Amino acid sequence: MCGIVGYIGHRDAYPIIIKGLQRLEYRGYDSAGVALYNEESKRIFTVKTKGKVQDLIDKVELNGSPFTNLGMGHTRWASHGEPNDVNSHPHLSNSGNLAIIHNGIIENYEALKTMLKQEGFTFKSDTDTEVLVNFIEYVQQKENVKLGKAVQLALNQVVGAYAIVIFDVSNPDEIVLARLGSPLAIGVGDDEYFIASDATPFIDYTKDAIYLEDEEMAIIKRGTAIQIRKIGDDSIITPNVQELEFSLEQIEKGGYEHFMLKEIFEQPNAIQDTFRGRLLADKGIIRMAGVDDNIDRFLNAKRILIIGCGTSWHAGLVAEYIIEDLARIPVEVEYASEFRYRNPIINKDDIVIAISQSGETADTLAAIKLAKANGAFVFGVCNVVGSSIARETDAGAFTHAGPEIGVASTKAFTTQITVLVLLALRLGKEKGVINTTDYYKYLYEMMAIPDKIAEVLESNAFLEEIAAIYKDATNFLYLGRGYNFPVALEGALKLKEISYIHAEGYPAAEMKHGPIALIDEQMPIVVIATRKGHYDKVVSNIQEIKSRKGKIIAVVMKGDTIVKNIADHTIEIPETFEALTPLLTTIPLQLLSYYIAIMRDCNVDQPRNLAKSVTIE
Ligand code: GLU
Repeated sequence: MCGIVGYIGHRDAYPIIIKGLQRLEYRGYDSAGVALYNEESKRIFTVKTKGKVQDLIDKVELNGSPFTNLGMGHTRWASHGEPNDVNSHPHLSNSGNLAIIHNGIIENYEALKTMLKQEGFTFKSDTDTEVLVNFIEYVQQKENVKLGKAVQLALNQVVGAYAIVIFDVSNPDEIVLARLGSPLAIGVGDDEYFIASDATPFIDYTKDAIYLEDEEMAIIKRGTAIQIRKIGDDSIITPNVQELEFSLEQIEKGGYEHFMLKEIFEQPNAIQDTFRGRLLADKGIIRMAGVDDNIDRFLNAKRILIIGCGTSWHAGLVAEYIIEDLARIPVEVEYASEFRYRNPIINKDDIVIAISQSGETADTLAAIKLAKANGAFVFGVCNVVGSSIARETDAGAFTHAGPEIGVASTKAFTTQITVLVLLALRLGKEKGVINTTDYYKYLYEMMAIPDKIAEVLESNAFLEEIAAIYKDATNFLYLGRGYNFPVALEGALKLKEISYIHAEGYPAAEMKHGPIALIDEQMPIVVIATRKGHYDKVVSNIQEIKSRKGKIIAVVMKGDTIVKNIADHTIEIPETFEALTPLLTTIPLQLLSYYIAIMRDCNVDQPRNLAKSVTIE
């Protein structure tokens, strides 16, 4: 995954790179490094370290950094080679002339490495990236070409995925970049260019950005316009400069201790932003350009296939219930990583909905390509404007949740569900499945959801108390039925990823087919028991847990008395339609995970071994 930053211009590069890396740290934080062109020695100054960007800053402080206006930095999520100083990026070529940073995987690196060794190249690290930079050097020397040409020739022989930035000390007025499968944005300033995995590192310097497309490379020379061309065939591409829409405040913590907490509390506003311009309740209108422009395809669809990974897959499961219920179109939900490799049956009249917060998830992107190749219509639901999935899909709807920095997804989940509810309602109305009265009721109820989430957020302090009681548990079980089964999965995932407590989510009725064996007085069980969702059945399940001395944390609808009398702790959500309960029941589960993780001294925004956007397989 990795975050990459590069700079060429007239300012001191180091502070720009460091600040950029801090903003990209959500993408990976196994190690960090910088390579700066040292104008005095005409050599490359590198500092690399295992650990966070702060460790890098401390290490650079010991050595001092040269003033330069050409440099690059990297924050790594290790794929090839353990996270240590040597495997950290940037990597230099054998001559010491080329420096590279890379996000992705070079799949044929073994073969290239063997060939390079035979040619006399040596390697310090275990990474695929060091092989790539030496392969580029090899091509450069063999063909006697400039860096840009060498990069192009080399990449044409590479198998895998990459976003790379590279410069050559013998030409410090030039920096070269290329992408295939991993994101790369270029900030265009006055005689200066910023390069990064996303636009956040340069938002304080410029609002003009170019998103490099797959199979494109760019050669940036001081004093001349940027040149973008196809890696495969040399054709020149006219740069498409876009204006960035987010602000600096949106990517800062705004008084909260962690991004995750800030993002949990942002959900009422985030959902309002998802509605904006789309949900016009008084007029009975749901306006979604991606749906409106393709309404016939949607209405003629025999089936909707939803693909996603992790939390996005959970949002897909919620959507399965909602779309089948409200629009009566058959829905199947699949992990993108399974779908892409299992020779699935895809028909021309299928609609494929691809869900991804970042819009860069590698498996989801590959699944989209497969679906398109088989003639399906692909609709994207993602958060990041300008992302690869947004560009690759036939149509789509942005969630407009604002940047999500915390690695554990929160507002992305609820805004994805919001988009999918709007879609289900729009299709249900159009197909005549929902009558006008119910349709209006849903629209008004949706309008009320942000306030109801704000109300659930008030249980914050109570959830902190519950967290204190169970913070040392080694296992948790999450149970829910119907619409709240995916919420149980999501609640368990949240706890696992940020607190490292083992947790399982189950449909409540499945408990008897296995998990019930785990229940004893040590086991906390979170049960979602909203009144309309097979309530009596869930109450029976709660009784069964109680008889085995399990500890019950129940999420119920306001006014519930039955579960309240049995459960050890109950958290109330305001009354709403059953189909919309996931938007409310998710909130206490997010807060519970957050507080448990904090009390266990875990780094909630950057949990171990994870990264925010999974841009590699
Ligand atoms: N393959 C490179 C490495 O291990 C980059 C990994 C990534 O982008 O996640 O260092």
